[in-house]
This record gives sequence, structure tokens and C-alpha cells, in this order.
Amino acid sequence: MTFEKEYDLICVGGGIMSANLALMSKMLNPDLKILILERLDDVALESSSAWNNAGTGHSALCELNYCPDDDKTGKVDISKAIDICKQFEISKQFWSYLVEEGLIEYPENFIVPVPHYSWVEGKDNVDYLKNRYEEMRKHFMFNTIEYTEDKKTMEEWFPLIMENRSENEDIAASKVGRGTEVNFGKLTKKLFQILEEKYKTPVHCGVEVMDVDPSTKANWKIKAKVLNAKKAKKQKIRAKHVFIGAGGGSLLLLQKVEIKEKEGYGGFPVSGEWLVCRNEDIIKKHKAKVYTKSGPDDPPMSTPHLDTRYINGKRELLFGPFAGFSPKFLKKGSNLDLIKSIQTDNLKVMTSAFWRNLPLTKYLINQITKSHEDRMDDLRKFVKNAKSEDWTTIVAGQRVQIIKKDEFQGGKLQFGTEVISNTNGTITCLLGASPGASTAAYIMLKVLNKAFPELTNTENGKALLDKMVPMWNNELTEDLFKEQLKRSKEILKLE
Ligand SMILES: Cc1cc2nc3c(=O)[nH]c(=O)nc-3n(C[C@H](O)[C@H](O)[C@H](O)COP(=O)(O)OP(=O)(O)OC[C@H]3O[C@@H](n4cnc5c(N)ncnc54)[C@H](O)[C@@H]3O)c2cc1C
Repeated sequence: MTFEKEYDLICVGGGIMSANLALMSKMLNPDLKILILERLDDVALESSSAWNNAGTGHSALCELNYCPDDDKTGKVDISKAIDICKQFEISKQFWSYLVEEGLIEYPENFIVPVPHYSWVEGKDNVDYLKNRYEEMRKHFMFNTIEYTEDKKTMEEWFPLIMENRSENEDIAASKVGRGTEVNFGKLTKKLFQILEEKYKTPVHCGVEVMDVDPSTKANWKIKAKVLNAKKAKKQKIRAKHVFIGAGGGSLLLLQKVEIKEKEGYGGFPVSGEWLVCRNEDIIKKHKAKVYTKSGPDDPPMSTPHLDTRYINGKRELLFGPFAGFSPKFLKKGSNLDLIKSIQTDNLKVMTSAFWRNLPLTKYLINQITKSHEDRMDDLRKFVKNAKSEDWTTIVAGQRVQIIKKDEFQGGKLQFGTEVISNTNGTITCLLGASPGASTAAYIMLKVLNKAFPELTNTENGKALLDKMVPMWNNELTEDLFKEQLKRSKEILKLE
């Protein structure tokens, strides 16, 4: 394995984020020298792997946590939903552009249409869903939403969930037909393949980045360890720009970088597990992504959902997520990760966030102590007669939730993603996990803007971005939204 002495950009991590950033940078300037370093034996083996996430194209069509309601007035706020929907559409536009350019031949290999439903039980939740529907249908992004309290309609929408229900159950559902199921693992691999084959960008696996130090010759000096050599070999490589896209591993690496912007950040790992159906007859009965409401004190990523998936050419059915606790920051990480991340600059923030998030601790303890039968009972709220022997547990990816300074509370837990960078943008790092892969193109455009403004702000750069991602730089009007929705539907074969 040979490296050049210096690169324009080194991306740490072979997940969907690095893949997007490297590819967009190369498309804007093919002369850039870019290197990708991944510690595992292949790319897309951590959170971006298909089994490690839920594969929902997060577009706020069914996820109720993006539409909070006011306790007193009951009014539902859809502003976050608008934001997430826009971000996912930007991802779809980027993928459509890659198809148009002949770089992706078969989009159906990674994205397929699967309708998105929200489904709730109990009078209060039914009232909430109706209010949400009333707000959403007024907005051009969501005006195809349907709502029902009619059990026959729900039987057509998701028959498996409606089996063995009594007439007097208080339930309601909404539907948006244009939902998607995405195999982010396949997509990530495809993007890296384009980088290697068309843009001659090296993607080196089995190389762990150990440290990033300032350099006098370039901006940064990367210390990397080649793991799969007979004797682990250390390498030093210079870079003008570094992107830390190491997923759960990003925080530990960021903490080693001498920039003041990293101070006060911490992380809390939450692992995930799915129940996966092994009975083909049951798998065939459900073709939908059905999300419900999480408990009042439960974190947003705990929202239970029953999902059709397409993985390795096979239709699957998955329920979850169930949370677990592991001190590791990556699925293939170290048990010392959490301890190592507690440092003098974040100790106060971490302690304060812990005390202020006792409901999360309670939730995690409840989740960790669940047996297979307890999980089956959770599933039986969706599928009344689910049989234990038809379902098995698999371990999903690891999420590291951001803990950061808060001027009033000392420290707070945050469930989104955040880009940390130094003032001149020569080093950028992505922390956090949600909504994640669906919004990778949008998040990486922000990184690109920070790291390479000379690429995104020129006339040529702007013109190319307008073609690649028309909703990125332009005002979001109804006409633009509809036109782009139609375009990506045709190109990505989402009929
Ligand atoms: C349970 C679960 C469900 C989810 N569901 C969804 C969903 O339905 N829809 C959605 O859009 N998103 C979902 N997400 C989020 C999504 O999976 C992530 O946001 C996304 O995959 C993160 O991509 P990434 O490139 O940042 O990280 P990753 O895919 O984790 O990649 C990071 C890579 O960096 C490597 N690495 C780490 N440290 C180093 C180092 N020092 N040197 C070299 N390499 C290193 C790792 O090995 C890894 O390959 C879910 C996540 C989880 C855990």
C-alpha cells in the first residue's frame, strides 16, 4: 500500500458521508487529490451497512418525532418536517444526477418505493395524528397525505397490522405513497466504486487514522496505521483538508485535534437491535414502513416501526429498534471508547447531561433488561399474533449521540447531527447520527461549502451545483419542488 506525501483532502472513514463528500468534491474539481482511509476490511461496514440502519429514506412523511405538538393548544409544528423533507429531496436529486451522467446504471439496486405510514392507538394520539394531517396537507411538500380512522382502509394499507383487531379499537393512520426504502450500504459501495473507477481516487481499507496534527508543510499531518500488513505499519501523510467522517469514531479522533472548536463536546453511545422475521408468509403480508409514536419520555430514535426492507436481493421484514447500552462508539469499536472520551474539557458537560437525562437512563435500563419474549410483546402491539419462533434478534449499528455545552443547563444531549470545523474550514468533523444517511448529500454540501468555498462559490461551481442539486442553492418554491419530485421519480424509477 503506497500513499503520496500530500493530498488536497483526506476523508477518514468509509461510510456514506465520506463517499458523498469525496464524490461531490471530485465532480466540482476532478484535479483534487483525495484519499479515503477506512480501518475495517471494506467500506460501509458500520452504520451505513444495510442491516445496521433501518433504510428509511427519512423524508418526514411518517416519522412523528419531526412534528411535535403544543401541549396546550395541540397545534402541530411541521417546520422540522419541511427541513428534513427538503434535505432528503436533495439526496434524491444528487442520485438522479449520477444516473443521468451514466455513473449509476440501476438505481433500483439501492432505492425502491415503499409507502410510508404513521399509525397510532388511543384517543389522544388519534387527535394528534388528525391535527398533524391538517397541518401537513396545507403544505405543498405533503399535500398528497391521506388520513383515515376507517379500519377497512387500514386493512388495505397494512393488512398484517390489522389482523385480529377488534371493532372498538381507537386507531388512526396517515399515508404518503411516495415513501422510499434505501439500501445505504449498496449506495455507499457504489459511490466509492465511482470514485475509484471514474475519478481514480484511492480508497484504502485496513488503515486506521490514529491522530491528526498541525503541519507546517500542509495544514495537517495524518498519522495512520496500516492494520492488515504483516506488522502494523505507521504512516504519515499530509493533507490540506481533512474530513473526519468516522461515524461513532469521529468524537475520539476530533478530541486529538488541536482546535478550540472541539471543546466541550462529548458523546453517549446507544446501540440498536432489530427483530427480523424469518417466516416468508408473514414477510409477504407487509409492504410498508409503518411508524408509530414513542413513549412521552423516550428518545426520538426509539420510535417503533415495522419495515419492509430489500437487502441482498431479498425482501425482509424488520421491527424495532430496541436500544441497548454498549460503551463502544463503533460496532467494531473498543469497550474503552466511552471512558476515553471523558476529558477535562467535557467532564462537567457530560455529568450535567447525565443528570438532566435521567429518563434516557431509565429508558435504556428498561430496554437492556428486555428478554426475547418482552420484545415480542412490543411487536405484538403491531402484529397481534406474532409468534416468537418466527422472529430473531440481530444487532444494528451504534449511534453516538452528541453531548454539548449549553449556556443554561451546563450540558445537553442532542439527537441530530452537527458539523464541527476550525475557522478556515481546513478540518471538518461530523458528529451525531440522525437523520443521517438520508440527508448525507445535504450535510456534505455544507461541509464542502466550509472546506472548499472556492469550489462552491464560483460561477462554474454554482452552475454545476444547480444541475446536481437544484434545491440546494435556490429558493424552495412549489414549482421547483414539484418539478424536481417528478424528475427524481422518473429517473430513480420510483413509480
Ligand atoms: C439503528 C440505526 C438505525 C438508523 N436508521 C436510519 C434510517 O432509517 N435512515 C437514515 O437515513 N439513517 C439511519 N441511521 C443513521 C445512518 O445509518 C448514519 O447516519 C450513517 O450511516 C452515518 O454514516 P457515516 O459515514 O457518518 O458513518 P459510518 O457508516 O459509521 O462510517 C464511518 C466509518 O469510519 C470508520 N472509522 C472509524 N474510525 C476510524 C479511524 N480512526 N480511521 C479510519 N476509519 C475509521 C468506520 O470503520 C466506519 O466504516 C440509522 C443508524 C442506526 C445506528
